Amino acid sequence: MVLAFVELAQGECTDLSLQMLTLAGDIAHQMNTEVQAVLVGMGARTAVSNLSAHRIAKLHVIEHEDIADYAPSAWAHGVSQLMDTLDPQVLIAAGSDRGNELLARVGVLRELPVAANCIAAYVNEGLGLQVTRVRWGGSLLEEAKLRGSPALLTVMPHMLVPVQTGSVNYDIDIVIFNPTLSEDDFRVRMVACEAAGEGVSLNNAPIVVSGGRGVGSADGFDILEKVARQLGAAVGCSRAVTNNGWRPHADQVGQTGAQISPDLYVACGISGAIQHMAGCRGAKHILVVNTDPEAPILQRADYAVIGDLHEVLPALSAEIDKLRME
Ligand code: FAD
Repeated sequence: MVLAFVELAQGECTDLSLQMLTLAGDIAHQMNTEVQAVLVGMGARTAVSNLSAHRIAKLHVIEHEDIADYAPSAWAHGVSQLMDTLDPQVLIAAGSDRGNELLARVGVLRELPVAANCIAAYVNEGLGLQVTRVRWGGSLLEEAKLRGSPALLTVMPHMLVPVQTGSVNYDIDIVIFNPTLSEDDFRVRMVACEAAGEGVSLNNAPIVVSGGRGVGSADGFDILEKVARQLGAAVGCSRAVTNNGWRPHADQVGQTGAQISPDLYVACGISGAIQHMAGCRGAKHILVVNTDPEAPILQRADYAVIGDLHEVLPALSAEIDKLRME
């Protein structure tokens, strides 16, 4: 059986979890087995309606009086204890911060290797699972053999599309699991959750207006904010920007920031370093605004304006206003 760790946000399964279920289903199909899901906390009822089209045979809900809020060690112990009772062949999670952290901890508890950022997996009788995974900020695809049993893997964000395979009214059995946890398991726990800012969330925005070092200052982002508001977009940035303290890390796109797949990514004053492109590789279209016609990001651009963003963006903003008036 393939055990899929599903994450919730505001009571809904996250998009990354639904993407992960695509690979979970594929592996289960190759193994001629089923996918069962595990989630932590009381969100089972809402999750069931999200999961009912994804051919989940059973949903295990780990419940404990203190476990609802994220506590990495407690969650990992809970999942590991559940694995003791279920004996899955595979534990799979989304390659989110939480998914990667949880599987790393389960890996330590069970002395098993973890393959992160997988995009495909092939069952090799007697040789374990062979995985294709993204390495080096997206510049390499690695073929690796994962010999541990059960196999632990996470799925690269925004590389797979959620596939609905079952009927929406498909009935899922819900099984409650109560782990044995100690005080030590709660030494690290989430105590508050604050929204990073107002406006559209970077992770789900259909359009992202992103700025790099070329923006020049924190105040320079005012025009990006304005264009983003006009387009219903989120504002993103490069690491040069967060290093300078012009924007919070929550806005950073890239290998060490958010990995996003908007319909349109507007990259202003960003050179296109490989670590940055690792975060916006999934964008359906890229529009570049840059003074340098040789900037590497132009090789990835669908559209480009060679010019100073402090002239181009005000002109773009005025044009949007004009179109709205017509
Ligand atoms: P620069 O490379 O300095 O580019 C600035 C661009 O702005 C240039 O192309 C220039 O022509 C243009 N420009 C200048 N003025 C204007 C203007 N007025 N109008 C228009 N264009 C203008 N980076 C990330 O972004 N995200 C990550 O997650 C990330 N993770 C990393 C992880 C590691 C381990 C390492 C080593 C690096 C990481 N980096 C990351 C850093 C990355 O290598 C680059 O240094 C960074 O992306 C550069 O940011 P930038 O494009 O804004 O700046």
